[in-house]
Amino acid sequence: MKYIDEYRNSHSAKVLTQKIKSSITKPWNIMEICGGQTHTILKYSIDELLPSEINLIHGPGCPVCVTPLEIIDKAIAIASEKNVIFTSFGDMLRVPGSRLDLLSVKANGGDVRMVYSPMDALKIAEQNPNKKVVFFSVGFETTSPANAMSVIEAHKRGLENYSILCSHVLVPPAIDALLSSSNTSIQGFLAAGHVCTVMGYKEYIPIAEKYKVPIVVTGFEPIDILQGVLGCVVQLEDEKCEVVNQYSRVVRIDGNIEAKKVIFEVFEITDRKWRGIGIIPQSGYKIKNKYADYDAEKIFDVAGIEVSESPLCIAGNILQGVKKPFECSAFGKECTPEHPLGAPMVSTEGACAAYFHYKKSTN
Ligand code: SF4
Repeated sequence: MKYIDEYRNSHSAKVLTQKIKSSITKPWNIMEICGGQTHTILKYSIDELLPSEINLIHGPGCPVCVTPLEIIDKAIAIASEKNVIFTSFGDMLRVPGSRLDLLSVKANGGDVRMVYSPMDALKIAEQNPNKKVVFFSVGFETTSPANAMSVIEAHKRGLENYSILCSHVLVPPAIDALLSSSNTSIQGFLAAGHVCTVMGYKEYIPIAEKYKVPIVVTGFEPIDILQGVLGCVVQLEDEKCEVVNQYSRVVRIDGNIEAKKVIFEVFEITDRKWRGIGIIPQSGYKIKNKYADYDAEKIFDVAGIEVSESPLCIAGNILQGVKKPFECSAFGKECTPEHPLGAPMVSTEGACAAYFHYKKSTN
């Protein structure tokens, strides 16, 4: 298939659904890791198309949702300083910190700007040599090459007023952590196609072998998701646990070698806290000492910030697939996309926001 319409074709969807139905003999729990996949599943009601034996569990793959509250509060503290221009992708601006969000800082007079790329932030730094320009560098492996590239470029251009606030997280250690939990019910995974586009999928092979789970690298269109589920179900029924690449039109086993070189020029792997989950060993990137001059956490005095989550929010359970959003007592009441209590209600990739937009009336 070549065109986007083919990946949204209803006849193909029916054929695949039928194949899944005829392959299945017992219940299976399959987690889609990525929030983009969750969004597609709910937008196209794929969960309702599938046979009732399949329970789709929504994973922690929304970068906005898993960015720790401490980092958001640090962003707010930096953005509130005089002489700072704080830049970020749009979806981070509304994520609630302990008391404020970045848009409130802007409303109170802070210079907070939405950018579409870290290279835009770099341009702002060049145009404003008397200001400190900070870019909020969050996300999975997918966004890390461009963010690392901005640091390399700042270094090359001799820009001393540019830095990044870094909170990158990595998918394979999170899958490992979810599967090692004693109360996990996950039996198969749809891995995130865009992450594997950058990193490849070799890292998933030992995880599939260790936990005896099939992992299908999957894209984001409805037909991608159905093919991913079929790939998982066929393996589960045959008691196989291999890594299969459904997203072969984009993903190669070694990923994008050049992008990985850029990442590891600037970043090194570190333990990272995930919002709602806690610290996962070796699950994030930090800036190498070589580029410490571009590390906003070293430039600004933001150590020791105390945080407090809303007591109503059960985002941790949502992000680990233990509960569905409508099982939260605040869902659609105290917590809505207009007034989010937790990150999964903010981002379009967040499970709570996806349920609110596509499922609220049915639950
Ligand atoms: S509905 Fe709101 S309060 Fe409940 S878990 Fe989701 S983000 Fe948190």
